[in-house]
Amino acid sequence: MQGLMMQQPLVVASLLTHAERHHGEQLIVSRRVEGDVHRYTYRQLAKRARRMANALATLGVQPGERVGTLAWNGYRHMELYFAVSGSGSVLHTLNPRLHVDQLAYIIEHAQDRVVFFDMTFLPLIESVAPLVRSPKVYVAMTDRANMPQESSLADRLLCYEDLINLHDDAFDWPLVDENSACSLCYTSGTTGNPKGVLYSHRSTVLHTYAAALPDAMNCCASDAILPVVPMFHVNAWGLPYIACMVGAKLVFPGPALDGKSLYELIEEEQVTMSAGVPTVWQGLLAHVDALGATFSSMRRTVIGGAACSTAMTEAFQNCHRVDVLHAWGMTELSPIGTICSFKGFQRSLPMPQQLEIQAKQGRSLYGIDMKVVGPQGEELPWDGKSAGDLMVRGHWVAQQYFASDDASPLRDGWFPTGDIATIDGYGFMQITDRSKDVIKSGGEWISSSAIENVAYLHPGVSTAVCIAARHPKWDERPLLLVVKKPDSKLAGDELLAYFDGRVARWWKPDAVVFVDSVPIGATGKVLKNQLRERFGSYYLTV
Ligand code: ADP
Repeated sequence: MQGLMMQQPLVVASLLTHAERHHGEQLIVSRRVEGDVHRYTYRQLAKRARRMANALATLGVQPGERVGTLAWNGYRHMELYFAVSGSGSVLHTLNPRLHVDQLAYIIEHAQDRVVFFDMTFLPLIESVAPLVRSPKVYVAMTDRANMPQESSLADRLLCYEDLINLHDDAFDWPLVDENSACSLCYTSGTTGNPKGVLYSHRSTVLHTYAAALPDAMNCCASDAILPVVPMFHVNAWGLPYIACMVGAKLVFPGPALDGKSLYELIEEEQVTMSAGVPTVWQGLLAHVDALGATFSSMRRTVIGGAACSTAMTEAFQNCHRVDVLHAWGMTELSPIGTICSFKGFQRSLPMPQQLEIQAKQGRSLYGIDMKVVGPQGEELPWDGKSAGDLMVRGHWVAQQYFASDDASPLRDGWFPTGDIATIDGYGFMQITDRSKDVIKSGGEWISSSAIENVAYLHPGVSTAVCIAARHPKWDERPLLLVVKKPDSKLAGDELLAYFDGRVARWWKPDAVVFVDSVPIGATGKVLKNQLRERFGSYYLTV
């Protein structure tokens, strides 16, 4: 057919090839677990990624098989992003903040063939390894000099730099199907176990295009981008891919995410844009305020994962001239759905009105459609007032969970987000509540059902309900409401101590409130929204 365009598949490796050929000199700077700072270029990244791709082939990793990573944001993690996905395998980023039992469940469910880990997580991976059968080898992401003298992983433990040194950088990225899987990320199940979201090459590249646009994250070759959001948290919101696409300098913070470390890195590397959850920015702002300092290069920051308060937006914009881009997304959305950037006429509005707009989660990127629906599934008007279930569909929205027997979560082709929202006449969406039964503390999920299950193991508990209560530092923290057995003398501290070792430390509820009963709805389910109304401010008042 005349005039038809070339068929070039949208694959992750093409992002790296582009960066190598067109931005080969651009820098990637990483603060390492070892404490020092590492610098190299995209050209070197690409070479080492190809060496690692050869190493993966030697290790017997087959196309489509999963490779786990348990790592901070750094250049070796970046190499794996491309070595694994580029060679047709699936990069499975693991969240080190999870409890060993959950990590074991996720590794086994994903059938990870190899797990790469930063040395920080050696004790964690040594606790997980006896619980899982799938990984054949574990790779410590360090050099020979920093390898542990002894490890229970014994001869299954390999050294990352040895693998790099042993392999050649001649490797042709295979022509993979753009609809095949490139990466996998688990999200907290609202009931039961965590669920895997499998991203395709195509969905990832399309998300990269859209998220880099001026009205989205607004990234370009003269940017120095600091992804504070972890690479195990929905691919650092796509920034590793975006940086390759636009040729931006990348600055990786490693494990040091406190205000002082971040501020020093931002200034030393002249970072122009960053992204992360509100909790991290609180620490940064507190540090900068205490110093009486400001930012010399930072121009904007993307804030999402939890609502960004107007106070935070004001602090960044008015005190530091750093624009805030409030964003909303989900693991199931790769993750970005909306970003709050002004339309033309809004740029000249008075500041209070602008701040009101910026409290909203923003408008859809091209590639994502959204609507809010009422109880019968009817679409509600875009009037900024009618709140309903937020539904989305688009190029980078999951239609089914990975290796799941459950029915597709879609309803009439739309993905129900579990968020309650309004949409205004200009298309700006605002989250007003959440219908899903999870707690989001410092941007990370806590499963309320997992907390309730532990509480029910205690002989003094008759009914246990865990809700998200608002918290000044962490946005939300779990609050446990308990009806005691009639003859029980159970005390709050005793029940809280019962969680030690049974869940990750930060999953333990901050408080227990004993109640006489909990409200039950017509279908026999606890009416958590009523409990949230009654107890949701608990941590703001104690
Ligand atoms: P991420 O934290 O990367 O956005 P998750 O899948 O961990 O992805 O969490 C998604 C959920 O987090 C959303 O469904 C919503 O409940 C909440 N969330 C994300 N961004 C925001 C935001 N800007 N404001 C309020 N809630 C948000």
